[in-house]
Amino acid sequence: MPTRVTVWNEHRHERDHEAVAELYPDGIHGAIADALTEATDDVERPAVEVRTATLDEPEHGLTEDVLASTDVLTWWGHAAHDEVADDVVERVRERVLDGMGLVALHSAHYSKIFKALMGTSCSLKWREAAETERLWVVEPGHPIAAGVDECVEVPEAEMYGERFDVPQPDALVFTSWFEGGEVFRSGCCYRRGSGRVFYFRPGHETYPVYHQPEVRRILRNAVAWAAPGERGSVSFGNAEPREEIDESDDRSVH
Ligand code: ZN
Repeated sequence: MPTRVTVWNEHRHERDHEAVAELYPDGIHGAIADALTEATDDVERPAVEVRTATLDEPEHGLTEDVLASTDVLTWWGHAAHDEVADDVVERVRERVLDGMGLVALHSAHYSKIFKALMGTSCSLKWREAAETERLWVVEPGHPIAAGVDECVEVPEAEMYGERFDVPQPDALVFTSWFEGGEVFRSGCCYRRGSGRVFYFRPGHETYPVYHQPEVRRILRNAVAWAAPGERGSVSFGNAEPREEIDESDDRSVH
């Protein structure tokens, strides 16, 4: 069965700024959706079904039905995090705990959903100076780094610098170096409930980052990694003992 992906985008910068619209004529969501479905010289077209959703749609395009039929949600937001309704955030959070993957992109570090799942401020340093970023693979062999050279150079990037106030990731796949001297944990894996969460840093709206083949490869890998797949069922609540228990000393009130 194909992985069902919903690509969510705030979709404001593309409509408000000509330079962004020129880079992303179909919206950032269009570029990401395109990246997720493309075949490359060495890899066939991924088995994915992609749809997009944006902030200004009813319920931000993230209805119960859409989320119920989403295996992986990718999230790009920046200027309007506050406009995302809390009940939709809670709906997304519950779906992640239930097994849906979430790929939080670039300025989604400050989105309500990412902060809710992390439980920290998710603050960082930043600077917009079209500087070079070197994205180093620090976990070779990790599926998200499959087919990616040990160092990917992003010619023009917004800088994000440490400290990045997030919990210690379960796996750190990428670390960035910036021309100005800062470093940043750019590819962080988490598990929340039954769901997998990946934070991926590159993707500032005024640079053509999502057109870069290495970045597009990483997006495809991230979606494949975050997909629920066959992970076994989880049960909670009152449990029958596997062995007979001597309950004669049980003083608890039932
Ligand atoms: Zn940015």
